[in-house]
Amino acid sequence: MKIGVLTSGGDAPGMNAAVRAVVRAGLTYGHEIYGIKDGYSGMINDDMVLLTSHSVSGMLSLGGTFLGTSRAPEFLKEEVRQIGVDNLKKRGIEGLVVIGGDGTYRGAMDLARMGIKCIGLPGTIDNDIAGTDFTIGFQTAVETIVDAIDKLRDTSTSHQRCSIVETMGRRCGDLALFAGICGGAEFIITPENPMDKEQMFKRLREHKAAGRRHAIVVITEKILDVHALAEEITEKAGFASRATVLGYIQRGGSPCPEDRILGSRMGTYAVELLNDDVYGVCVGVRDSRMVHLPFANVVGQQRPKNELYKLVKKIS
Ligand code: ADP
Repeated sequence: MKIGVLTSGGDAPGMNAAVRAVVRAGLTYGHEIYGIKDGYSGMINDDMVLLTSHSVSGMLSLGGTFLGTSRAPEFLKEEVRQIGVDNLKKRGIEGLVVIGGDGTYRGAMDLARMGIKCIGLPGTIDNDIAGTDFTIGFQTAVETIVDAIDKLRDTSTSHQRCSIVETMGRRCGDLALFAGICGGAEFIITPENPMDKEQMFKRLREHKAAGRRHAIVVITEKILDVHALAEEITEKAGFASRATVLGYIQRGGSPCPEDRILGSRMGTYAVELLNDDVYGVCVGVRDSRMVHLPFANVVGQQRPKNELYKLVKKIS
């Protein structure tokens, strides 16, 4: 079988490990693997290359995605998608492994309806995909955020400050939650765990009165203006406060071992699904086991509130 592989939407560390596994496992099973450049743009522009085992050597430790990625809004148009489908069919590519987030999965659902055998792998640092415990890239991003929190704690202790750290995550608080636990944050504010401002000011005043030299607040992006919150904490809690927006730093870096393993497992599993003529599904990891679900059960679905929030209440 000829199988295409692409990475799409926001990049994430470990995407290369997943592509490498699709290529290597694909070749092991006797398939031909085509790398499609820059997400759905490469399908539309017919920018595809035949990948060999050698093409993916040295890729495990590389951050980002060597295939490139893009946001291709034109792909929402049926007639544009048809150009992409025709480009695949012209080469005899029947199977397609897409690595990305919710938007990428929506694109794959459309392609599945147009006769392409699609498999989705969750590649996003946000961990905002239903049907999987972890997405590829999430754990590396947590490491990056924890490293930043540790550094901010050093300087905020010296200056007796409260540090506010804004993470990515869109509508999912997992980055803030996991990194906040690892970094010993006093407050973790996420879409699933909203803030009670008065309660927070009260606790920070008590903190200060008890002689604590620092406090860390970790908050998911897009909830509020963190610089305005820092001013409010300085005024109302009497704790000098500064905000740091981590931004795109969180997307980069060499993938951690967990993401290399997750990418490798998911890429291999995708090929095995195609071997078994299973498609129109996306892959997940649940309780350390590989699983797959129809796209329709995952796209647009909210993840349940993480069990770790119960822990936060007891130890922060
Ligand atoms: P992510 O996959 O990380 O959520 P995007 O939301 O940007 O990132 O989606 C990636 C790409 O998937 C988009 O640029 C577009 O080409 C395609 N896409 C997104 N939503 C749809 C949709 N509803 N139908 C078809 N294609 C879509």
